[in-house]
Amino acid sequence: MNIEKLSDILQDQPKFRFKQVEKALYSDFITNWQDLSVLPKDLREKLNNECPLDIEAKIFDGQNRGKKALITLEDGQEIETVLIRQKHDDTLRYTVCLSTQIGCPLACVFCATGKMGFTRNLESSEIIEQVIFWARYLKERDEKIDNIVYMGMGEPFLNYSQFIKSVKFLNDVETFNIGARRLSVSTAGITEGIKKLAGEKIQVNLAISLHAADDDLRRDLMPVAKKYRIHEILKEVDRYILKTNRRVMFEYLMIKEVNDSDKDAEKLVKLMKKPLYMVNLIPYNSTGRFQPSSEKRIDKFKEILENEGVAVTVRKSYGAEIGAACGQLKGSSKKK
Ligand code: SAH
Repeated sequence: MNIEKLSDILQDQPKFRFKQVEKALYSDFITNWQDLSVLPKDLREKLNNECPLDIEAKIFDGQNRGKKALITLEDGQEIETVLIRQKHDDTLRYTVCLSTQIGCPLACVFCATGKMGFTRNLESSEIIEQVIFWARYLKERDEKIDNIVYMGMGEPFLNYSQFIKSVKFLNDVETFNIGARRLSVSTAGITEGIKKLAGEKIQVNLAISLHAADDDLRRDLMPVAKKYRIHEILKEVDRYILKTNRRVMFEYLMIKEVNDSDKDAEKLVKLMKKPLYMVNLIPYNSTGRFQPSSEKRIDKFKEILENEGVAVTVRKSYGAEIGAACGQLKGSSKKK
């Protein structure tokens, strides 16, 4: 599917046609132009020929509330996107996790995507295609997407223009109409991106992948930390908070005997004891090199932060069995 072609095909059509098409694509989630019976037959045929709506994808089922899809793009490249189902006070909530790049240039040592190197940025239409794919899937089951997180493959802020274009599109009342509060982006701490986001009219939720409380350890884990020191990232976050008055989530992986000691927790307290800061501890999904911290260790780490008044939660992890949990999106399923 390539929705970029639409504007060319529809350029001679009256304006209301565009609205009909947008509603059909982004609200009714049709999969064949023949289903859009308000369009003249010859236009439907033209659209089916020149802008087919099929999305080529394979779904990998997790037993545990996670589903991964591998979508093949026009140039044959494949991207991964994940659907997560969570129970929330007796109702089911669906979160879609989006990729913004094919591979990732950051090469974080704990992350599977980081090992595959970087191929190219995704177009905003390719980011949106991932949402359309799951929206269609859920519609067949009388369900819909509740939340969207930009936490799949790639670094969103190194593809800022296409990332923000996709955000605006998803947020647009004429298209998907997904509220900004239901959209979240995670960055490894690209300060230019944090700054740009603070200046946008739409404010999505911001998460920062911190993973270490001092620069030495952070540099060992995330090569990008050589360029962005923790105090610079926090300075930019503080400006963001001053401007937006929004909460910011700091993601902290719990890796056994790497960053999970009492001392690490105490260092983290010093950085995180600020209003509107919150810490999300993430149980590490093993990708080979490291081991996850024990549940007991995570509890103790959390307790140290809590006792010092830091807002802290522990993330539930889904999809590990299909290699679809955070940082495991590597396309290993292709080999199956
Ligand atoms: N590049 C962005 C977004 C993609 S990664 C970022 O760095 O934030 C999304 C989250 O998954 C990040 O917090 C990342 O550090 C985390 N992650 C990476 N590998 C992981 C793993 N093996 N287990 C759990 N989380 C992981």
